[in-house]
Amino acid sequence: MVKEKKRRKESLAANLPMSSSKRPRFDKRGRQLSRFYEPLVLLYTLGRTRGEHMRDILCDGTNISNLPHKYLIRRFLCSLAYVCDYDKGGDTVTAIGLESRPHGYIFWIASNSNQTTKTVPFLMWLLGHMYQVSIEATAIVPEQVDDLGAKCIDFAVPRIKAYRNHLKPVLRRCLGHLDNQSHNGNEAHGLSEWLQNWNDQRGSEELCHFSYQERKSEFMQLLAKLGTEPSYKSNKDAIHHAFSSARHLIGRLGHHFRVANELLFCASRLSDILHGFEVRSIPIHTRSAIPPSDGKTTLDSVISRMLPSQSADVERYQSNLAEMDAKYQLSRRFLDNYRDPDLNPRVHAEIQVLEHFYVGGLRFVESDAFVACSKPACFCCLLYFRAHPGHFVEPTSHQKIYLNWRPPDLDAQMAIIRENHQRDILNAMTKSIRKEAFRQINEKIPPHARHPESLTGITESASSPSTLELVSITCISSSSASFHRP
Ligand SMILES: [Zn+2]
Repeated sequence: MVKEKKRRKESLAANLPMSSSKRPRFDKRGRQLSRFYEPLVLLYTLGRTRGEHMRDILCDGTNISNLPHKYLIRRFLCSLAYVCDYDKGGDTVTAIGLESRPHGYIFWIASNSNQTTKTVPFLMWLLGHMYQVSIEATAIVPEQVDDLGAKCIDFAVPRIKAYRNHLKPVLRRCLGHLDNQSHNGNEAHGLSEWLQNWNDQRGSEELCHFSYQERKSEFMQLLAKLGTEPSYKSNKDAIHHAFSSARHLIGRLGHHFRVANELLFCASRLSDILHGFEVRSIPIHTRSAIPPSDGKTTLDSVISRMLPSQSADVERYQSNLAEMDAKYQLSRRFLDNYRDPDLNPRVHAEIQVLEHFYVGGLRFVESDAFVACSKPACFCCLLYFRAHPGHFVEPTSHQKIYLNWRPPDLDAQMAIIRENHQRDILNAMTKSIRKEAFRQINEKIPPHARHPESLTGITESASSPSTLELVSITCISSSSASFHRP
């Protein structure tokens, strides 16, 4: 009888639902990850966008021909990563690190999904082509840009298709709105006609090329003006969002030609790194789940674990959070985030490259610990870079939280890293995440609005100063990240 009871108890324990007690905190690693993910999920619930887009001033305001060698290499690597990222949605996000060896250079490549079978041959071909450009040492002509842009677009068909699909409903809204503005005369009519260019059936290459040509046009400036948030409060369906999205997506469609131009320019000055190169894929990282919620995963309980025991602040934060919960249903949304069936945590591409260089003791070209990525880093990757002892160049970031983020599982015995390498990084990240959450709870700031992950890709020189004042992309330095204030 006792045995039967014990057996039933064990069987029940084996089938415990996600809300069972203690499960996520059984072992050392589980406890460490729980301590990290709990405040992260809370912060995500408070608003997944943690600040404005950070921009790399070297990529925006600086004339590429004035860049010193080291920065030219950075720009070249970023452009390579961009054209290798052939789809939207995150799986194909690509990071590249350039290793310097006595007899040549190795371009190490990684992607979010660990799939580089398609990108490695493309990168090999592209670098071979770049090498030819570098040894010919003649001035770049527009036909070369067109030809390379077309090849990159051909490789990125899924991404271009996704942009076009996103643009369709946006155009419908813009055109519908402009039709009702006929009393505004020529301006609305002209813009309406111009936008029809993206509504017809022309091929992707032609459309992308047209988007590139039009990036400086008066209509793009008009879109920027119409896409500016009005001073009064507006909802997410407000028409200025449609105009702003149209401008953003047209910018993205034209971006491959801009990048092709940059690649050719950089290649013509970088013959040193293109002589005797190799392309290698970073070995695959296994996946692991994030610790599930349990009986202790409540807002009150999480707050008490985020503060030192006996802290006098616990009650105040719990009370503020309860007030916010009543207004914004934080408890429900907090637990829903744990139960998202699409959660599939993985090591993001730039972190794979970073740890591959650090753990393997690889030497960066020009001793510049720079990891190029096809997209700005997410909030967690940014914190990981900041907390890492390797002093890597801090990436630009869109400051969004992804719950499918996870740290790599590094084996301290096999590597040259310290035993507490991972623990120390996660602790430093957790500290920053808690600080962000406490700041928001302290001021009872509601969950924040979103912004697109990629920038439109139009340089400042392509816009008039008056337009720049109107666009909602704000440039801030990496050290002064701020909240979106409602
Ligand atoms: Zn990331």
